[in-house]
Amino acid sequence: MRIEKMYINGEWVEAASGNTRTIINPFNQETIAQVPEGDETDTVSAIQAAREAFDEGEWRNIPASTRGKLVLKIAELIERDVQELAELETLDSGKTLTESIDDMNDIAEVFRYYGGLADKDGGEVIASPIPDSRSKVVREPVGVCGQITPWNYPLLQASWKIAPALAAGNTMIIKPSEITPLTTIKVTELIEEAGVPKGVVNLVLGSGAKTGQLLAESHEVDLISFTGGIETGRKIMTAASSNFKKVALELGGKNPNIVFEDADFDTALDQALNAVFFHAGQVCSAGARLLVHDAIHDRFVEELVKRTKQIKLGSGFDDTTQSGPLISNDHLKKVENYVAIGIKEGASLMTGGKRPEAEELQAGFFFEPTIFTECDSSMRIVQEETFGPILTIERFDTEEQAVTLANDTIYGLAGAVWTTNIRKAERVAGELRMGTVWINDFHPYFAQAPWGGYKSSGIGRELGKQGLEEYTEVKHIYENTNPSPLHWF
Ligand code: NAD
Repeated sequence: MRIEKMYINGEWVEAASGNTRTIINPFNQETIAQVPEGDETDTVSAIQAAREAFDEGEWRNIPASTRGKLVLKIAELIERDVQELAELETLDSGKTLTESIDDMNDIAEVFRYYGGLADKDGGEVIASPIPDSRSKVVREPVGVCGQITPWNYPLLQASWKIAPALAAGNTMIIKPSEITPLTTIKVTELIEEAGVPKGVVNLVLGSGAKTGQLLAESHEVDLISFTGGIETGRKIMTAASSNFKKVALELGGKNPNIVFEDADFDTALDQALNAVFFHAGQVCSAGARLLVHDAIHDRFVEELVKRTKQIKLGSGFDDTTQSGPLISNDHLKKVENYVAIGIKEGASLMTGGKRPEAEELQAGFFFEPTIFTECDSSMRIVQEETFGPILTIERFDTEEQAVTLANDTIYGLAGAVWTTNIRKAERVAGELRMGTVWINDFHPYFAQAPWGGYKSSGIGRELGKQGLEEYTEVKHIYENTNPSPLHWF
């Protein structure tokens, strides 16, 4: 079992209260670590450390190229430790080792991208309309950043925040999900090893109510970046109004996957499975709403159900496993409850809908991949994020109908369209009110392109150059090159 600590002002520390939390493996509920359970006292210490490190000025004033090199060094260290990090992620989250290795490689790329971007913005000279003047616009770090992450992509989500915040010259307090802190702890060790000065990166562990809430409320914090559920996002936005800090929110999604009758049937089918059942559906961009054209609906559903029944559940460390467990018993109950809701609402349960019976899966939080047909927009299972392996299928006839159904939720994170008619694909992509639209694909994201939601899926963007801009303030500097009295008064 691992015994872990938090990282505040360059020191590895226990919680001030001495409290700890047990971290378990969702595959078998075995204890894998004891971590400090921080609270308000620890959060205040971390905020103070980040405040001093920012205000004292050394970090934010070092050349951007030097900061960039440090961020690149972190990328190298992550690459060195990919296997160890990936194993830790699988142990903590239940996802397959292949997925974890992919995550870790993506994370190294995120640090590499922002390391490279750190010194690329030299500001902008403005054509001033006033004679004898110079005008320029520069970007500066925002200051102290609170960064709160969820359990489904523990380190990936943290990397989208830490890398740009460091590259831009901010200081920060990271608060990972209390359920899955292990890889964020490990990467904090790598950040220390890379030589990031004390106080610049601080790690606080504990519940959202006792640590995250304070980060959102504190007057000493200048920006709060949050990834998680919509209700928590609402609390954070309310708390952030205390000092009108900058707010970046990456919230949920209920993402439509639209399959037209002229799509490449086999590819669309294969990817529809991946869209929704990847990581047991615990993905903000999961393709949980499948919209299928009438002409192919019945055949598509039949094949989909057949393939879904063959999905192999198991340990993330077993090479033959296609999907691991859900994250916790509470989450399992929530997903189970959505199946009951779907049945009550009149949807047809085609497969799954229950915990698996296999003996070897009984200790884990497993749930069978589930498909509902005959769904419509009035149903809660179509409107709400179940965040589990549940697919709802709706049918459509016209392009216009598909777009209307696709846009008909409060969310706007991502969506996909499958058709061999590229003009139709681009028309539909243009009509979808979502931050990301995939044409004849599902799920790709990368460091170079922005990620974020329309509507209630959030505010702001991560990744891409927009992800770096979130961590900057814009300053206009005006210089009178020939000052003289005005004689107005
Ligand atoms: P959650 O909202 O329950 O928790 C997320 C984080 O917020 C955790 O660290 C938690 O401790 C903290 N928190 C809880 N209450 C808080 C409070 N009052 N103040 C401050 N912090 C608080 O979400 P979760 O269950 O961990 O994650 C699942 C959710 O995350 C899903 O809705 C999913 O869609 C979303 N998500 C979105 C994206 C995206 O890019 N848009 C990516 C991953 C996950």
